[in-house]
Amino acid sequence: MGWLVTRLLAVSLSVLLASLTGWLVGRASQLPLLGILLGALLGALGYALFDALRGQRFLTWLQSRNGASAPRDAGFWGEVGYRVERSTRLLEQQIDREKIRLAQFLSAIEASPNGVMLLDVNDQIEWCNSVAADHFGIDPQRDRLQPITNLVRAPSFVAHLQTGQYGEAVSFPGPGSRGTISVLIKPYGDAMKLVLSQDTTERERSDSMRRGFVANVSHEIRTPLTVLSGFIETMSSLQLTEVERRRVIELMAQQAQRMQLLVGDLLTLAQLEGSPRPPADRWVPVQQLLKQVRAAAEALSAGRHTLVWGNAVGSDGGSDLIAGAEQELHSAIANLVNNAIRYTPSGGAVHVSWIVRADGVGELEVRDTGIGIAKEHLPRLTERFYRVDGSRSRDTGGTGLGLSIVKHVVQRHGGELEIRSDPGSGSSFKLVFPAARVRIVNSPLEWESTASQPGEDTALGMAG
Ligand code: ADP
Repeated sequence: MGWLVTRLLAVSLSVLLASLTGWLVGRASQLPLLGILLGALLGALGYALFDALRGQRFLTWLQSRNGASAPRDAGFWGEVGYRVERSTRLLEQQIDREKIRLAQFLSAIEASPNGVMLLDVNDQIEWCNSVAADHFGIDPQRDRLQPITNLVRAPSFVAHLQTGQYGEAVSFPGPGSRGTISVLIKPYGDAMKLVLSQDTTERERSDSMRRGFVANVSHEIRTPLTVLSGFIETMSSLQLTEVERRRVIELMAQQAQRMQLLVGDLLTLAQLEGSPRPPADRWVPVQQLLKQVRAAAEALSAGRHTLVWGNAVGSDGGSDLIAGAEQELHSAIANLVNNAIRYTPSGGAVHVSWIVRADGVGELEVRDTGIGIAKEHLPRLTERFYRVDGSRSRDTGGTGLGLSIVKHVVQRHGGELEIRSDPGSGSSFKLVFPAARVRIVNSPLEWESTASQPGEDTALGMAG
């Protein structure tokens, strides 16, 4: 209210002073009253003019503020300028805060692994994050305010958008037919739409792998089961001679063993996938692993092959060491040796060797002079149930899971499985272990004290 008092005082003072001047001038010309009236009128007019000039100055500032302060006038216009300036500053601060919040909000949506797109009433793109732009193959800046149906032509998406029934997600091929995009639409506000998108390529691939795996396992188990039920029926409905009965039981035992091997390998795989990485500080003597595999290999070969065993023992009797899980390593080497014997005709040779390269990397190689593998099969050999020759694999007791177990084991130890093969002349399978997991030990006392005790790890199966 201070400005009102000042304003009234200023008007009164200017009128009073002008009236006084008018009275003085009027008295000299014998017209004091007229002098007072004219003086008061001029005083009021003068004040109004002065006030209008200040008002004009204020309006000019208001129109072109450019960050300058309001005119620092006393009284009414000064007060108006001060208040307008203060409320504008508060408003600007609030807008700045809102801008920061909006930017944070948008960058949070931008960071989302899912695509987010806002469509207006006419299905024009209001905003989208870069993930959505990637999913729909659009440019967030260039395509702003474009109708989405002009840019995304996938019939299933367009039809879904136009139905107005948005309960379920819809899938369509991604831009350039790369993978699959799944989209969920949520209406919001005034007939606007929030479009959430997700790249489901990987999920669909693993779903189909899982379905394929289950189908494979069922098929592998169904075959021996069908054979077994056939034999059971034969035994219960026919009178068999003693020789026939023995033969049937032998065949039944073979089928049961086949199922056992398969279930064993499946459990091994499940265990490998579900357990933590093998310890990096438990040292297993390579020589001990080779010794364990040797007896089973000789029994399987039954003298049909020449088996050559390399040495992992140093000049003074100590064995080199690999850090990891003994049973897993045993299972991997056993699988490779088992395969080499099964896929090498009688009279052939199998060489098992261990070397530590100059860079400290350890290589355990199983080489055979067997049937070999054509080049086109090599990349797929470690897939579950992949067989080059299904009947040979089954006839020799293979489950089709051996090499996937080997690959898992070596990768869990930070290494790689290298395969080389020449059809007709043989194959080489190498387990390559990183230097960090390999130790050359020369003193027998040293390795004996650092080696883990056999049987400490969980037992893993062995099948080719
Ligand atoms: P399987 O139980 O069928 O042997 P694996 O996973 O161990 O399954 O091997 C996959 C396929 O790789 C085999 O079916 C076989 O065709 C081929 N294979 C594996 N080892 C050898 C080898 N040493 N010589 C030739 N072929 C091999």
